[in-house]
Amino acid sequence: MSDTPASAAGQARPATQPQGATVDFACVGCGRCCTGHHVPLTLSEARDWCRDGGEIIILIEALLPEQVAALPGAEAEHVLARCGRAKSGGTRIRVAATFAAWNPGLCRNLDESFRCRIYERRPMVCRIYPMETNPHLPLRSERKDCPPEAWGKASAATPTTPSPLLRAGRVVDPDLAAVIERSRLTDYAEAQSRVALCEALGMTTAALRGDGFTTWRPERLRLLTLLDDVVDAGSRTKGDGDNGIGDTAPTNNWDFAAASVAVAQAIADQGADLTGAARSGAFAFVATTRAPPAATG
Ligand code: SF4
Ligand code: SF4
Repeated sequence: MSDTPASAAGQARPATQPQGATVDFACVGCGRCCTGHHVPLTLSEARDWCRDGGEIIILIEALLPEQVAALPGAEAEHVLARCGRAKSGGTRIRVAATFAAWNPGLCRNLDESFRCRIYERRPMVCRIYPMETNPHLPLRSERKDCPPEAWGKASAATPTTPSPLLRAGRVVDPDLAAVIERSRLTDYAEAQSRVALCEALGMTTAALRGDGFTTWRPERLRLLTLLDDVVDAGSRTKGDGDNGIGDTAPTNNWDFAAASVAVAQAIADQGADLTGAARSGAFAFVATTRAPPAATG
């Protein structure tokens, strides 16, 4: 197992879901998955979203060294591949920034008939749903928005003809498997560029992984300018480590927001910085802490 994003990104992985699942599925076009979800985007997709007038939300979590060392082997590769490298105080940290379409209600692209207005160029995550891009997350129909009839549980009133989606845990449709793989590898390949973009935007306060997320709402045109630079540079210099943001390479100092005094103490104990009150109005904090600050381990 390697903890380096670059090596992880270079490895192709079969589109296999755990648990050897057999699943049939047919989208019934209910539009629920297009409602109330912030849609994770690649940087190119984020640029298109901004160009179309859409807003972006950035969700940020970070790992301290003890967390990196304690990640379960099977999960570590995926988690770390989604992270860019950064520093906080005297500590090296890993930062996972997710750029997502801001969709608090109906997606701006959903029409009155619950059809996607940009269907032919919709984001990869929209093409993949209800599948997961995280190879360690099994597909769980009960956690998805799709109604029962989409999973082959048709009633007389709503008959559907589901197609094979998974057989022995493997995605049946090779085109879908290819999109899942492309989405995941793009996510890995852009990890450091996302961190650099956050730094260029001054969005350098993270939540500790397991404690929550900080969420940021960048100004659309400012973000679009940066995305133009990074996406264009990426297409010119793919693979040479150039993140396309020039002088704003990731050398800034990051700090942490915490949901509790105990988590804040754990962060300080590892030599990382805590954010000051003056910064706290710039972002929202979404707490996810399920257990005390063992988040650091
Ligand atoms: S872009 Fe299209 S498919 Fe994706 S959430 Fe919006 S309406 Fe749904
Ligand atoms: S929630 Fe499921 S069934 Fe409904 S539109 Fe989305 S993918 Fe199709």
